[in-house]
Amino acid sequence: MIHRLVYYSRNRLTDGPLTAWIIKDILSASRANNARVGVTGALMFNAGCFAQVLEGPQQAVEETFERIQQDERHGDVSLLDFGPVGEPAFETWSMGYVGGSESGRTRFAGIAGESGFNPSNFTGDRLFETLHRLALEEEEAALAA
Ligand code: FAD
Repeated sequence: MIHRLVYYSRNRLTDGPLTAWIIKDILSASRANNARVGVTGALMFNAGCFAQVLEGPQQAVEETFERIQQDERHGDVSLLDFGPVGEPAFETWSMGYVGGSESGRTRFAGIAGESGFNPSNFTGDRLFETLHRLALEEEEAALAA
């Protein structure tokens, strides 16, 4: 059965050219590892925080999240949702990155700002829906380009 996990965390990276390189590094390790164990999902990054959805077999999602929580590139990892789902939403994404477009950054900045970075103001459903919508928009934009 497919499980979905949603969390967000405080980004410990500073803005600058090195950050873009570090994000690339995170994405390439994520894509290689996730593809091996059947995990899919999407990652969002902005100046303040990361948000991520992981989907896949329960054990693979749990082991991936264990590793992610140990990573010093972020902190205050807040788990918002974890449980079985009927259908995966990110089937074709070993780890989609939705921080790339201007509209994605603006929308996520709005949500993060509203919450004051307080996890109790976020719901897993809301974060999941936002990442899913942004992922679809970015996919459509890439196909149209
Ligand atoms: P390695 O080959 O050991 O490392 C890959 C690269 O990352 C190397 O350049 C290494 O120097 C660097 N690196 C590894 N760990 C750290 C660390 N703790 N601090 C600084 N640099 C480090 N991993 C996944 O497998 N799937 C995911 O979906 C995923 N999502 C992530 C989301 C976020 C927000 C962050 C911060 C990390 C995420 N990671 C993810 C990375 C994860 O935390 C581990 O770094 C990674 O899984 C280690 O895999 P590896 O042993 O194959 O990589």
